Amino acid sequence: MSSRTAEVSKIKTPVNMMGSLFSFLPNIGLVFTNSSTGIPSDFYLAGTHCNCSDFCDNGGNGSCGRSAPLSYSITSTFCSASQAVNISQDQRDIIRQEYIRHGLSSVPDRTDLLPTTDSLYFLASALNQTAYSLSWGSPGALADSVYLQYNNLLNTTPSTATTFTITSGWRNPERNEAVGGVQNSDHQFGNALDLVPLDWQDHPELFCTLLSAAQNVGGTFVQAENALSQRVNNCADSTVRHIHVSQR
Ligand SMILES: [Zn+2]
Repeated sequence: MSSRTAEVSKIKTPVNMMGSLFSFLPNIGLVFTNSSTGIPSDFYLAGTHCNCSDFCDNGGNGSCGRSAPLSYSITSTFCSASQAVNISQDQRDIIRQEYIRHGLSSVPDRTDLLPTTDSLYFLASALNQTAYSLSWGSPGALADSVYLQYNNLLNTTPSTATTFTITSGWRNPERNEAVGGVQNSDHQFGNALDLVPLDWQDHPELFCTLLSAAQNVGGTFVQAENALSQRVNNCADSTVRHIHVSQR
């Protein structure tokens, strides 16, 4: 390499500092650990109710909005000249930081977080009801297969007119906490949905049909749940409010 080339390469923007490859996840002691259990303890406390569109009856802390990015201001000074640069987390790292802050076992890679897209039968806005445009996993494929199976059991023809609604899909950890989800809820890892049949007030037996549809497509965790997202053993029970299905 000639000295001239070396000079040019010095002033190029380093690829690992800017753009899509830029990533930082400072873990700066935001997780407060319960000394006896070792579990992060300042989260998942019963508290205020939220205004997210998901089920919210369980209360909790958390937030329905986006977290603030961690950022640094870097100032370099030479003699009397000074230049300041701010670097700040983008949406991918803001979301990843939430997983770390909540002490979760899995943290998505930057490439795991993708723009949520419409599935065959469901809009992206139903599959991802968070304040972020990115999400982890592909709940759309799961929603479509449950939908086809449910229509099969009902002897109805699949169309874009839905026969059940999605009340919760992927949740970022702050949102999961805000809606009262358990700390390691599958909803944070992508392939989990809460489903409510249309006309359930007049036909509560549809919860059992929907439960069967979710089991038939190979959901790894399927259960009827009440308004507090607690398991209800009998799908015909009057307290059932949605069917949870997840696939890992
Ligand atoms: Zn659920």
